[in-house]
Amino acid sequence: MTFKELGVIEPILRALSKKGYKNPTPIQERSIPILLDKKDLLGCAQTGTGKTAAFTIPILQHMHLEGKQDRGAKIVKTLIVTPTRELAIQINENIKDYAEFTRLRSVVIFGGVKQGAQTNALRRGVDIIVATPGRLLDLIGQGYITLKHIEYFVLDEADQMLDMGFIHDIKKLIAMLPHNRQSLFFSATMPRSIVDLSKKILGDHEKVTIKPEQATAEKVEQVAYHVAKRDKTKLLIHLLELLPDPAVLVFSRTKHGADKIVKQLDKAGIKAAAIHGNKSQAARQRALKAFKEGKLRALIATDIAARGIDIQELSLVVNYDLPNVPETYVHRIGRTGRAEASGVAISFCNGEERPYLKDIQKLIKQDIPIHDENPYEDDLTEPPTPKQKQRQPRSNRRSSGGGNSNNRNSRRDGNKSQGGGRRTASRRSD
Ligand code: AMP
Repeated sequence: MTFKELGVIEPILRALSKKGYKNPTPIQERSIPILLDKKDLLGCAQTGTGKTAAFTIPILQHMHLEGKQDRGAKIVKTLIVTPTRELAIQINENIKDYAEFTRLRSVVIFGGVKQGAQTNALRRGVDIIVATPGRLLDLIGQGYITLKHIEYFVLDEADQMLDMGFIHDIKKLIAMLPHNRQSLFFSATMPRSIVDLSKKILGDHEKVTIKPEQATAEKVEQVAYHVAKRDKTKLLIHLLELLPDPAVLVFSRTKHGADKIVKQLDKAGIKAAAIHGNKSQAARQRALKAFKEGKLRALIATDIAARGIDIQELSLVVNYDLPNVPETYVHRIGRTGRAEASGVAISFCNGEERPYLKDIQKLIKQDIPIHDENPYEDDLTEPPTPKQKQRQPRSNRRSSGGGNSNNRNSRRDGNKSQGGGRRTASRRSD
């Protein structure tokens, strides 16, 4: 299947080919025809599947064709609302790329920065607004934006919107939208609250689901390490020294944790920076830019800040902490193995996190192999079997962290490392 066969028009085809997109991803193949037909869409998919192009291409195409009739007058006809600044910036960058050979103009609106540049762009005239909810409402309140002429409305990452407490803002926005519009609603997960919200936004709609396991299992090689909390940073440093990957994205559950990891990596001479909600917008952008330019070896991110991070050819993601929501794991590892690339996801799992690992395996319907070359193997999280007790005195079972552990293959869970383990280990000599 090609984009042309999906009905995409010439100026956009040209932009896609310039981006190097050869074939549509599954979500694009399924959503583009529905959206070109002007139907509403409920999309259950996460970042990394190509969903941004899936929803922006048809909207750009409609607006480009309509623009010819209204002679390109600048009226805001499209509103895309997304939870984080990073994601908003990312979507806007994609729009600019895909719309390069049209006359359509977009602007990105988010808080935490002065509004001048945004209001100037609005004054000059735009067709598309990509925004986070707070600043958007603020500028509507100040009279810079009206939603009266919106014909295309996209709510992106709806589950994250609710997690971040945006429900009231979203309801306010929906109340301002004209009834006659095409609506698109995307969410990585579909709990009851999300389904209820989607009903408020969508009319008669079609549903497209790209299952997490489709997105991950096929493309991302996964492996886990059993490691005590206190040894996680040592293991991270060990792996960063061992593995060749130039840019590694590390997920930390907490902001404080992320800062701490950066400090410890710094001490070990590894260049790293953190991005999370306590960092200013400028600091987050700076860190992201340095990471993308290869000036940092590791970027330590919390889940919310990581939304919208799109780095081409990110080959390794490390879950320093395992998330207690299994879908979050899928979301995280979707950062590698994007579109047509393949990648590796390494997860650190301490004793308390073992139930999370089980939940994740249940969701992705596959076992994540446990790596057996682990100098920091956490031996104390499960009581040893009587047989093992006989074989090794307790003092030996406790790994010293020297990289030459006696107990390398002493794992007890029988979940031997296969593909993932081998590949990760063999990357030593790459
Ligand atoms: P998204 O899920 O929208 O964040 O997209 C994930 C990544 O896939 C981005 O880097 C896109 O530029 C890239 N991408 C999207 N569609 C395609 C495609 N059809 N072919 C190749 N790369 C794509």
